[in-house]
Amino acid sequence: MARITRGGFNGSSILIKLLVLQSLSMLSLGQDFDFFYFVLQWPGSYCDTKQSCCYPTTGKPDADFGIHGLWPNYKDGSYPSNCDPNDPFDQSKISDLISRMQQNWPTLACPSGSGSTFWAHEWDKHGTCSESVLDQHGYFKSALNLKSKLDLLQILESAGINPDGGKYSLSSIKSAVERAIGYNPWIECNVDESGNSQLYQIYFCIDTSGSNFIQCPVLPHGKCDSTVEFPSF
Ligand code: 5GP
Ligand code: 5GP
Repeated sequence: MARITRGGFNGSSILIKLLVLQSLSMLSLGQDFDFFYFVLQWPGSYCDTKQSCCYPTTGKPDADFGIHGLWPNYKDGSYPSNCDPNDPFDQSKISDLISRMQQNWPTLACPSGSGSTFWAHEWDKHGTCSESVLDQHGYFKSALNLKSKLDLLQILESAGINPDGGKYSLSSIKSAVERAIGYNPWIECNVDESGNSQLYQIYFCIDTSGSNFIQCPVLPHGKCDSTVEFPSF
């Protein structure tokens, strides 16, 4: 009897040790997450608001959607942030990606900058929370590759939705994207100086590898009018 009791005790203490080890290893790898939001911004809608914008020091960006970020998220809608202060943004780790970054991930905040402040913010706040899957180079490369897989402006334009200051139904925008990639995106609007609701950011859901589009497990909050403006840039 005593042996069995002792054996049972040893078994559960080993189990507890294993559980502790497992959670320690998860902590050291950064927090886990369920999926990514890949967020693109329309520069015309960032710039024509009350806050206005500043072009990057490298020049006016293309009239194209730019990357805002690749954000690890939980299925319940919450998200981890600033997961690893010991691994700050280091531009030398992505030097081979800089020209693609300048073209596809331009900063529009004032004062004008090269982009590194924006990229550092995105890595430090969001990227560090996906370190268990992607290192800095892998994180930025994944976002750039997603952007090149998805020619969003082309998708919209071939559905007759052009950045011409016209108004388009939200449902026509969503269906054009769904026809092209197979999944519904989530649309975020902001308002221009005259108070019109306009297409600002588009969210896509990506699996934890950072490379495949998936059905969104949960959608963010916020709303657009049923018809939105698509301003020029
Ligand atoms: P806002 O409050 O303007 O919607 O978002 C401000 C910032 O909070 C975003 O740029 C982003 O960094 C973060 N954020 C907002 N919503 C989400 C979300 O659903 N998931 C993640 N990962 N970050 C978010
Ligand atoms: P988030 O909203 O992702 O938490 O924060 C975005 C931060 O990056 C803000 O501090 C914002 O000023 C800065 N930022 C720099 N360039 C851009 C840009 O082009 N778009 C957006 N949304 N934020 C930018």
